[in-house]
Amino acid sequence: MVELSTDLSPYEAVQYFFHDVADQLGIDDQTRAVLNGTYREIRVQLPVRRDDGGLETYYGYRVQHNGARGPYKGGVRFHPTADLDEVRALASLMTWKTALVDVPFGGAKGGVQVDPSTLSRAEHERLTRRYMSQVSYIIGKKRDIMAPDMNTNAQTMAWMMDAWGRAHGHEPAIVTGKPVPLGGSKGREAATGRGTVMVLDEAAKQHDWTPEDLTVAIQGYGNVGSWTARLAAERGYRVLAVSDVDGAIHAPDGISTDMLDKHVKEAGTVAGFEGAEDIEGDALLELDVDVLIPAALGEVINHTNADEIRARMIIEAANNPVTPVADRILTDSGVIVIPDILANAGGVTVSYFEWTQNIQEFQWSEEEVNEQLSRYMRTAYRKVRERAEDLETTMRRAAFAIGISEVAEVARLRGYV
Ligand code: GLU
Repeated sequence: MVELSTDLSPYEAVQYFFHDVADQLGIDDQTRAVLNGTYREIRVQLPVRRDDGGLETYYGYRVQHNGARGPYKGGVRFHPTADLDEVRALASLMTWKTALVDVPFGGAKGGVQVDPSTLSRAEHERLTRRYMSQVSYIIGKKRDIMAPDMNTNAQTMAWMMDAWGRAHGHEPAIVTGKPVPLGGSKGREAATGRGTVMVLDEAAKQHDWTPEDLTVAIQGYGNVGSWTARLAAERGYRVLAVSDVDGAIHAPDGISTDMLDKHVKEAGTVAGFEGAEDIEGDALLELDVDVLIPAALGEVINHTNADEIRARMIIEAANNPVTPVADRILTDSGVIVIPDILANAGGVTVSYFEWTQNIQEFQWSEEEVNEQLSRYMRTAYRKVRERAEDLETTMRRAAFAIGISEVAEVARLRGYV
């Protein structure tokens, strides 16, 4: 059991959500121990030669949480906060996410504890290759499949595929989110944001809201945030504010994402965009908008600011952006929270399509990818909505209940519990 408190670590927070739902499902303690614990955790030392000749030592992690439903699956992030606890939390979220959207994988996550802005491109490449080499013996297309996450992208995946292939032979299916010419899937880069907007569409339909009447603020303008902004604006939603690590912008009449993309290309940040006013980064979360989409770091909505949130709905495009205490405050005040394991599942869903295409040595068209993504996301949304209505509970509890029940059933069938 994990008691509700304001200082839960990321892994404790996910455990809190797990036990909260396991109580409702009546899952016994022995089964909980298997489902909640992690299967394998690796920490590797990563000495990297700097361009100036010096040697810097970093640490990397790979946590495999649960493999009952298939090979372990999950991204790798490069971030100063990526310690064992955070990687465990994110690995367990992958287990419930893959089960919820019904892709045939277990859950895993990797992390390298580093601020990538301090690395040159060559140093970044050496660190990536070193990380993959050190954990490569647990990676495989039927064992554990990596993917991008925070501060990693298609180029990082290409280096990983190459590093693994040098030791074990060419095998694109060991990593997803690759560049398209190297076996990546069309539509993978936009997939997480596209999935988030599909979830937004379903939520709007459920509550009888029309896109043109809905105002949206998005925290983060990396891969997930920028695609969410672009595709939401394309669908007619009024994107009023976005932010990144260097600043935030707000335009009461809406932001032109085309113009913003041009600005970001030149300036490297959303800050200073002519078509909007610069605001404080934290102020974005408290804007008077209908929908707030955190699409960057974890734990950004917590006990210090949950009371200040004015949005009617939060869609968790980031992993773990709302702490358990904040979740309780928001739920009590009637804010609808669409949980990460549903809202950002578009990424791993198209990763599954990429893996399938690699195994078949065949490429799907972008239309096919987006159509199938829509089918998976809308089915998952409908299941969560129905479960929430049946149990008269929140979308988070309903989503966890589906994920946990699926994994528990498969674990039982395989004889793990
Ligand atoms: N890192 C993404 C996530 O958190 C994608 C994982 C994947 O594609 O395997 O869901």
